[in-house]
Amino acid sequence: MKDELLYCPLGGAGEIGMNMNLFGYGQEDDHKWIMVDVGVTFADDSIPGVDLIYPDPGYAEDKKDNFLGIILTHAHEDHIGAITHVWPKFKCKIYATPFTAALVTEKFREKKIDITSYLQIVQLGSTINLKPFKIEFITMTHSIVEPNGLRIETPAGSILHTGDWKCDPNPLVGDNMNSKRLIEIGKEGVLTMICDSTNVLSVGRSGSEKDVRDSMLKIIEKQKKRVIVTSFASNVARMETIFYCAEKTGRNISLVGRSMHRIYKAAKQCGYLSDVIEPIDPRDAKNISSEKIIYLCTGSQGEPMGAMNRISNYIHPDVFVEAGDTVIFSSKIIPGNEKKLYKLHNQLVREGINVISEETDFVHVSGHPNRDDLKDMYEWIKPNSIIPVHGEQRHMLEHIDFAKKLNVPHPIKVENGDIVRIFPGDSPEVFDKAPYGKIFLDGNIGVEEESKSIKERRNISQNGHLDITLIITTQGNIHNTPIVNFMGIPILNTEEFKISIQDEIDKIAKSFSLNNKKQDENFKDALKVTCRKFTKEKTGKRPITNINLVRI
Ligand SMILES: [Zn+2]
Ligand SMILES: [Zn+2]
Repeated sequence: MKDELLYCPLGGAGEIGMNMNLFGYGQEDDHKWIMVDVGVTFADDSIPGVDLIYPDPGYAEDKKDNFLGIILTHAHEDHIGAITHVWPKFKCKIYATPFTAALVTEKFREKKIDITSYLQIVQLGSTINLKPFKIEFITMTHSIVEPNGLRIETPAGSILHTGDWKCDPNPLVGDNMNSKRLIEIGKEGVLTMICDSTNVLSVGRSGSEKDVRDSMLKIIEKQKKRVIVTSFASNVARMETIFYCAEKTGRNISLVGRSMHRIYKAAKQCGYLSDVIEPIDPRDAKNISSEKIIYLCTGSQGEPMGAMNRISNYIHPDVFVEAGDTVIFSSKIIPGNEKKLYKLHNQLVREGINVISEETDFVHVSGHPNRDDLKDMYEWIKPNSIIPVHGEQRHMLEHIDFAKKLNVPHPIKVENGDIVRIFPGDSPEVFDKAPYGKIFLDGNIGVEEESKSIKERRNISQNGHLDITLIITTQGNIHNTPIVNFMGIPILNTEEFKISIQDEIDKIAKSFSLNNKKQDENFKDALKVTCRKFTKEKTGKRPITNINLVRI
């Protein structure tokens, strides 16, 4: 029997976020497995109290004994964000390049786990041997330093897993894209390319960090007062650009927000940002006149706890903004965040603050490949088949069409959980489905979407909560009046509500023999139904209701 080469995305196919990919090689039911990337996605307001979501790794966990390691392509949260939640289930080796490894180490340190003996630092451009896989890290360009494509070589042939990338001729920080090696890999033959689809709907090229730098300098040179720039902390080139602009315009720079400091530290540690001016503490920056300072802060998406939001609301302890100042949003307005962001923009312009964003000026480029960038990659790799990932349905379907137009013999559309047999066979095919799903990080605990805790909170947030305590005497009478507490129910006259609900309770109590303890559960159920119905009639809300019976 021939060995098989399998691919299965557990996250990231059909969405932009929570990337998790599995590759398997070997005889049926005896494959060796590797995992590429362990990312998160951010929850929206529909899931109250949950911030992070990641793919359910259960299918991979079942194969733990044949599991060779986790490989991380780059340090964006949608690729490494779930590592501290998923790794404890595997306790396997993790492979990452220095900058990614620095941030991963920090994440584990926050969880009080010393990961050093499991974390293997891979030098850029090198190859690791995880028999039967040989994995070569190929330097790409993206919106973070050290983005790696992976050439996954097996006895059956090679896969190119591009990771996130674009063609940036001037990435400013870090190495250039290794297109020379990509061309060689193409010549050696690629069975399947698994490729970033984020910008497949965008024509032309996604542009260079150098062009953003030139434009930012022109904009900042014109400013007479305070300049506040907000962008993704992880974009080290953008960070360096702001340092550069500060130096060129004779300003000091101050970093604001935890992740800005974290990335600055990790970048320095890995030898990046070696040639920039020294940032000053925001507390010291307060004493510098406004035309001599640039702040670079977190919160470019209007995140409630981000520095930008706190500055705009005048609740930041160290950074102040006033009429005549300029705020530059040097980042993409991510779909879904428009409301939050425009609210912030409105707040600022109302105060006479100048707002510059990608809508008004050239202050941002994407980190993902537009169509001309993709064309280059297809030209270099000439894959036998292509599997689009890192996209919503609309991106992935367009990517399939795109590949067809470029005459790729076998474009394959996958969804999370699809198991693709890449070898043997002339063309890859989806032949099975793995169990897949999402894990919601609720507090410290990973739960399913339909978990009791999330359902209850969603229910309470919609309908409110009613809590009634009855004290029953030894004679089987209700002692005093019931204790009625409620939250989140629009009751205008509390006393009147309590008296009338008490009447309802009395009516129900009459139909039960309260001496008989065996009746308690039925009594509680009847009270619950009645109290909810009564509240619904009075207020239109059917609250989560809790009945306590206390016997004395
Ligand atoms: Zn990325
Ligand atoms: Zn990504």
